[in-house]
Amino acid sequence: MTAQSAPRRFVLECDVCHQPSGPGALFCASCGVLSIDRQRNSYAATRRLRLGAFALDYLIIWLTAGIGWLIWLAIVAPHGQSPGKSLLGLYIVRTTGEQADAAYVWLREFGWDAAIGVAAVALLALLGAVAGTVEELLFLWLWLTVLFWAVSLFDAAWLLWDRDRQTLHDKILNTLVVERAREQR
Ligand SMILES: [Zn+2]
Repeated sequence: MTAQSAPRRFVLECDVCHQPSGPGALFCASCGVLSIDRQRNSYAATRRLRLGAFALDYLIIWLTAGIGWLIWLAIVAPHGQSPGKSLLGLYIVRTTGEQADAAYVWLREFGWDAAIGVAAVALLALLGAVAGTVEELLFLWLWLTVLFWAVSLFDAAWLLWDRDRQTLHDKILNTLVVERAREQR
């Protein structure tokens, strides 16, 4: 089929890979370059790396009782990274294209969990009013913990089917996760 007989498609061409980039997406659908980044050196982090960083962060939190992870986060947050992301070379950027600053990284790492945590405690307080015994309260607490983890996993799993590979907290905070320039892929 020659170019002339090919059906005309109204999609934008990516200026890096010269393939159709698809309408609306922040990343090129073909090569994954971040279109709003003027340097053209940020690419959508693969889903495997994203989940790897997620798992590493939880592993480091668990291994260091949270403390080592916090110190590590304080060091890498100014670079737009969490400990897990720093190990895998991933960076958090805003949907405006600039790298997330330290305050944004802390907000991203804590804001969401804090919000779920506060909601869980509020719910528990509400349930505490109806719970008659300590056993009932502990039972409710167990279920709230399960609910907390379910919501956290659902939040992270969102990147598996999201076009811009955003988690739910990425969507709320308008952030993306990228890898820096790679050789031609
Ligand atoms: Zn492209």
